[in-house]
Amino acid sequence: QPQELLPPPERFAPRQVPTPPSLTDPDVLHSLRQSLHQWHDHRWRAGASNDQPRPRHSPADGRELGEVFLADADTVHQAYAQAREAFVDWSHRPVSERADIVRRFAGLLEQHQSELLYLLMLEGGKTFADAFADWREAHDFCGYYAQQAETLQGTPLVLEHVSGEANQLTWHARGVFLCISPWNFPLAIFCGQVLAALVSGNTVLAKPASDTPFIAWRAVQLLHEAGVPEAALHFVGGAASQISDALLNDSALAGVAVTGSTATAKHIERTLAARDGPLVPLIAETGGLNVLIADSSALPEQLVRDVLTSACTSAGQRCSALRVLLVEDTLLDRLLPKLEGAMASLKMGHPALLASDVGPVINAGARDQLEQARAELRRHARWSAVTPEVDPALGAQGFYVAPEAALVDWEHLPEEEIFGPLLYIAAWRHDERDKVIDYIERTDYGLTLGIHSRIQAHIDDWVERVRVGNLYINRNQIGAVPGCQPFGGERLSGTGFKAGGPHYLMRFCTERVVTDNR
Ligand code: GLU
Repeated sequence: QPQELLPPPERFAPRQVPTPPSLTDPDVLHSLRQSLHQWHDHRWRAGASNDQPRPRHSPADGRELGEVFLADADTVHQAYAQAREAFVDWSHRPVSERADIVRRFAGLLEQHQSELLYLLMLEGGKTFADAFADWREAHDFCGYYAQQAETLQGTPLVLEHVSGEANQLTWHARGVFLCISPWNFPLAIFCGQVLAALVSGNTVLAKPASDTPFIAWRAVQLLHEAGVPEAALHFVGGAASQISDALLNDSALAGVAVTGSTATAKHIERTLAARDGPLVPLIAETGGLNVLIADSSALPEQLVRDVLTSACTSAGQRCSALRVLLVEDTLLDRLLPKLEGAMASLKMGHPALLASDVGPVINAGARDQLEQARAELRRHARWSAVTPEVDPALGAQGFYVAPEAALVDWEHLPEEEIFGPLLYIAAWRHDERDKVIDYIERTDYGLTLGIHSRIQAHIDDWVERVRVGNLYINRNQIGAVPGCQPFGGERLSGTGFKAGGPHYLMRFCTERVVTDNR
């Protein structure tokens, strides 16, 4: 029986771990160094299959981190068969037992914090602050979904009735869920999907992004250690495109949760629609072409700070990140010099160095695409500001892309998501507020929107008319906190329900109504 690490909290409180570990504390530094040491001496091996393991390298400095076994069709089918069998026992356990296992996992995340932070920095290329944010969100999901599952599945909902009959509604797990997670939140989004599926009684095949297998592998090991049966949760390594048939056409598949590109979600939707057998739900969280609107009443210092945070945190590799800043023309003179200074003061460098504000992007392909997009941006720029290149000694062999902001004419604003630290700026006149809404509508994405204004009528108008999932007023537009800012978009940006929100677990469940004629 796994040991109890933390007493279950009375109720979920967001940000239960409010601050990162202090790097001036000698114990913290010691355990971080131990983790680094472990990486030098010991290479990770993730997954299992009949195939040869493949080496994986850090995007930060090219060092080999270990090897991963890619799943083949046989491994996938075996995993489905075991997960289908395990569903019977797992789904029939009381919800409180599953919730306790999830809370025990939160305790293990705490116990292994420094190791996981190092993995996030080296494998995910995250700065210390980003790594901590990722770890903390995973931790928050544990408490939040454990409590939500107990609420949803703990007590039946008693319904209206006609005489002599009693009606009640209950929420049940669906079966085996396929969870496909991205590399940009390799711990938080991986855990968020898997925990939501598991705590509501489903069993899971978890397919992390092929760029970040080790973090996911470690999370799966810790979930097993917390008490999830091995047959109920399977790690599937490799690129989804190569095993997509095996993953999506197995008769045991009962639902898919995916966070990734809109194109991937559409491919999955088409494949699911064409299959024989039951209809299965798709929960997709995809991209965004996110705008921040600033009018002349915005405070330039605050705006610059929030623009930098929204556009450059995680090297711009968040689907919530700011891509297009639409500014009232009278603000430009006060804004651009400050933005230029702020961009110049950002430090790009190895993510394990505390001084780094911006780490690498995830791989060579991403870097090349972004450099192409930068060349295009520069061709049309009427003004631009860029962050200094990384010192080659600090980022040798890593994939670094310097953040850049540029003012362009409206016709050169992007129509597609560009996943990195490039920011487009365009100006509007006071009688052109509709132009801003037209642009957002035309892109058909609907994920995040920032508004910087002190004029309530402007704020109300934009909030009322813009169709996006998460709106942030007079602050940055990233870093949604489970339970506080349920996260997810509409239109091309996803299906809902929102992750970290009160309805998310419902998508992993089916409703059943029992009518009893007494
Ligand atoms: N939830 C994250 C945020 O609010 C973004 C998730 C993603 O990039 O997929 O910044």
